[in-house]
Amino acid sequence: MEPINRRKFLKTNAVLGAGAVAGLTSFGTLSHVVSDIETPALLGGTPIRTAAWPKWPRWDSEKDEELILKVLRSGVWSRDKVVEEFETKWAETLGVKRCLTVVNGTNAIIAALVQSKIGGGDEVIVSSYTFIATIVAILQTGAMPVFVDSDPDTFQLDATKIEAKITSRTRAILPVHILGLPADMGKIMKIANTHNLIVVEDACQAWLAEFNHQKAGTIGHAGCFSFQNSKNLPMGEGGAIVSNDDEFMDRCFSYHSYGFPYGNIGATNVSAVLAGTKLRLSEYQAAIGLTQLTRLHAETDLRSENAAYLRSKIEPIPGISPYVLYPGVTKASFHLFPFRYHSEAFKGLPRAVFLKALQAEGISCSSGYVPLNDKLYLKDAFDSKNYRKMYKKKDLDFEAFIAKNQCPQTDLLCNETGVWLSQNMLLGSKKDMDDIANAIQKIHDNAEKLLEVTA
Ligand SMILES: *Cc1c(COP(=O)(O)O)cnc(C)c1O
Repeated sequence: MEPINRRKFLKTNAVLGAGAVAGLTSFGTLSHVVSDIETPALLGGTPIRTAAWPKWPRWDSEKDEELILKVLRSGVWSRDKVVEEFETKWAETLGVKRCLTVVNGTNAIIAALVQSKIGGGDEVIVSSYTFIATIVAILQTGAMPVFVDSDPDTFQLDATKIEAKITSRTRAILPVHILGLPADMGKIMKIANTHNLIVVEDACQAWLAEFNHQKAGTIGHAGCFSFQNSKNLPMGEGGAIVSNDDEFMDRCFSYHSYGFPYGNIGATNVSAVLAGTKLRLSEYQAAIGLTQLTRLHAETDLRSENAAYLRSKIEPIPGISPYVLYPGVTKASFHLFPFRYHSEAFKGLPRAVFLKALQAEGISCSSGYVPLNDKLYLKDAFDSKNYRKMYKKKDLDFEAFIAKNQCPQTDLLCNETGVWLSQNMLLGSKKDMDDIANAIQKIHDNAEKLLEVTA
């Protein structure tokens, strides 16, 4: 790899990041005078749709605002009874013994790994098609991420490729239920049990999702959730760790409050018992979470229903492969609705133009994640003082790492085929789903004409 000017690199990535966000929210050009429904909107025709999509997040101005104002007026804003109430409700909802809220999903994963005694020199086998937070959480513990390729039909980590990645240093598997579609937990738990590995589930997109009627996040030794603004259970920022292991959860609690003994959040005249940090959720965040929780079941059911309907509508379109769920999946949470786009069936129209054309029809969409297994943030970790002390030089050879962590299926999903629709769109009507299907069909029928557009 060529040495890259660091400041230039940071700047380039910042610009790309902004573009990716804009892509997801763009609604295309909506002002057309003549009604020409046959011509692609991108070429000046009338868009399939000009109506807005359901907004996110949403709240009930009367009931929700009252609850949040009550917290404000109480003057108790730091962790107390409301946070406890949310933790109790979330654990009950999932059917798990314990829940501890923390500041965000990223730190939920870090805390769960650290309190599973994972650190420098350990290897953590992880999904390669995921959000960056999953991988940076591993790096924060000092452990080495080991990327597993994806199953392109399901967008999840390919469980049949896990065992080949196990070495004498493997300590944990970190499966991600990416997009809210559960990973193949039956196979994953079997492998973990055979090889005596810890399983920490990244359920940061999988609220209420289920595998064999067991909630995502409660199947492994620990599960981690995110309540960030865009998530299906939003608080602005927030996260949680869940587990049935009391001793582990006591340690997580202690870790999240300066390392003070379990249960202590106020007193300062006590001795800390472990090397902790500060990750506590505040009362008004928990209040927002409680209000959102009252709608989560109904919204999850609506997303599932609309996803299944939309899936059935787009599956017959040549070149479109909607997500597949594993046979064990009894519920998905659909943080995103994914499908694969095969340009061969669209006269070779590049995905970038397809997305542009879909946006012009009034259907917001995006190309999703970028590959994570070869990026400079890894090199930055490898160059750090701690990594240089904890690993042999050959383990930190960036080129060798990239060669060992190739994930061709993930590369295809990221660079060529993956398309996402965001969860708020699934809160619409059947007619809204028809709009999406009709827009995709329209682009398919006009692929030839769209070839003149450059991405
Ligand atoms: C959102 C997310 C996280 C991180 O959660 P934050 O609350 O944003 O820190 C981790 N993993 C996945 C898959 C996520 O989508």
